[in-house]
Amino acid sequence: MIMALTGAATAYGCSIARDVSMAELTSFRIGGPADMVITLPDVQAAAVINGICEAEQLPRLWLGKGSNLLVSDDGFRGVVLRLGGGQVPQRTDATHITCFAGVGLPALSRFAQTQGLTGLEFACGIPGSVGGAVLMNAGAYGGCIADVLESVTVLRGDKAVELPATELALSYRHSRLMETGEPVVAATFRLQEGDPSAIDARMTELLTARREKQPLEYPSAGSFFKRPEGYFAGALVDQCGLKGYAVGDAEVSAKHAGFIINKGHATCAQMQKLAQHVRRVVLRETGVLLMPEVRLIGETWWPVEE
Ligand SMILES: Cc1cc2nc3c(=O)[nH]c(=O)nc-3n(C[C@H](O)[C@H](O)[C@H](O)COP(=O)(O)OP(=O)(O)OC[C@H]3O[C@@H](n4cnc5c(N)ncnc54)[C@H](O)[C@@H]3O)c2cc1C
Repeated sequence: MIMALTGAATAYGCSIARDVSMAELTSFRIGGPADMVITLPDVQAAAVINGICEAEQLPRLWLGKGSNLLVSDDGFRGVVLRLGGGQVPQRTDATHITCFAGVGLPALSRFAQTQGLTGLEFACGIPGSVGGAVLMNAGAYGGCIADVLESVTVLRGDKAVELPATELALSYRHSRLMETGEPVVAATFRLQEGDPSAIDARMTELLTARREKQPLEYPSAGSFFKRPEGYFAGALVDQCGLKGYAVGDAEVSAKHAGFIINKGHATCAQMQKLAQHVRRVVLRETGVLLMPEVRLIGETWWPVEE
């Protein structure tokens, strides 16, 4: 069965690696080994490999840029399917761009700017892939994927199926794909014509704001907690005096309390301990239960409710 998988992967131009540290594939730089990582160069390869994994019922983890994941210290038992990022987006008409879901959001945002298309400026500093961003309905500075997504191609077994964005039930950091588990392999965005230099100026402004406010010098997964309705998670954490609170190398950023950072060699266990402490204190002091925005992968999960 593994022979069939690796044989097809080789035939379709994928790269295969075994026993790969997930710390190397995630922005948190945390996580034990994955049994196998297959990097998929295009939609066709992704469909074939997904079909084999589904037929064999192999546990799969779809991976983009790994910028919203906290992986267990035990790693992942199964196959990590990672979309390659090498493809160039395509402008298909006056206002539409289509791309492979492995493309990075900053690259897509920059491509739109060079084409004089506005709408993706908000995405220029989000370090994810298009596929991960669709799943998460990623957003920033008043914009989100739902505002500009026209359609996606998902996989059902070895078949690629196009769905209108309206079928994804996109809402704050959520899509229906979280329930169905269908991987996104391509996406089409609907933008508007704009002035490339004005778009560029807005992107520069947003990137500067990020550098000033976020601890980009340390590994993290961005905002650790979702924004609770009516509040900002970082402000609640700050209000409870938790800036700088640490468990080992896991630390609530002193620069931005919404970020938990890895100061060097933090483990997933330390991250969980720290996050649980933060949640307990914030719940006790403010009555608000923080929920993780980061996706937790692996065998050890923390109880979501206290
Ligand atoms: C410094 C920093 C700043 C950030 N700022 C923001 C921000 O402003 N706004 C924001 O929304 N997020 C932000 N993030 C979080 C993160 O970049 C986004 O959530 C991003 O969309 C995740 O994309 P990814 O490709 O890295 O996904 P991954 O982390 O690889 O995966 C995240 C989830 O998506 C799934 N997934 C990945 N690829 C696919 C696919 N092709 N099909 C289906 N499921 C898939 C994974 O299985 C997992 O459940 C930030 C992160 C960092 C480190």
